[in-house]
Amino acid sequence: MSLQRTLSIIKPDGVAQGNVGDILKRFEEQEFQIKALKMLHLSPQQASGFYAVHRERSFFQDLVRYMSSGAVVVVVLEAPDAVVRLRELMGATDPRQAAEGTLRKLYATSIEKNVVHGSDSDENARREIQYFFSDSELLD
Ligand code: ATP
Ligand code: MG
Repeated sequence: MSLQRTLSIIKPDGVAQGNVGDILKRFEEQEFQIKALKMLHLSPQQASGFYAVHRERSFFQDLVRYMSSGAVVVVVLEAPDAVVRLRELMGATDPRQAAEGTLRKLYATSIEKNVVHGSDSDENARREIQYFFSDSELLD
């Protein structure tokens, strides 16, 4: 497969726990290229917009509160098959179900505080990258 881009977020728990350096190192070791990166503190409005697909879910309010509770690091990653490969590196949503060696197995503390986000399709990756980055912030 040709090069693809995906969006990752190191979530507030990952930043607060001091996992930023380790997670960025894992991305690079797994041969993802970092194409854009910024640290942000999401407003509740930005967090709700980002996770709008989940607005009917019972955990939505908690999710918005958590995602806007502290700084996050938003990263655009490029690799062959980047969407699927990032999801593999992250592990299952619930860290109790995450495979050994995955980021969530290593660092997540609950199904909510699960350290990292990754886009779940090429279409969503494009939408999510545009949500956070302007064209001039994205490297060719
Ligand atoms: P993400 O979209 O953040 O990469 P995901 O695709 O593995 O995670 P989703 O189903 O899209 O999982 O859920 C989005 C986020 O909502 C989860 O990562 C987690 O932080 C939170 N979440 C999901 N399910 C639950 C739940 N049952 N209870 C509490 N929080 C949840
Ligand atoms: Mg998701």
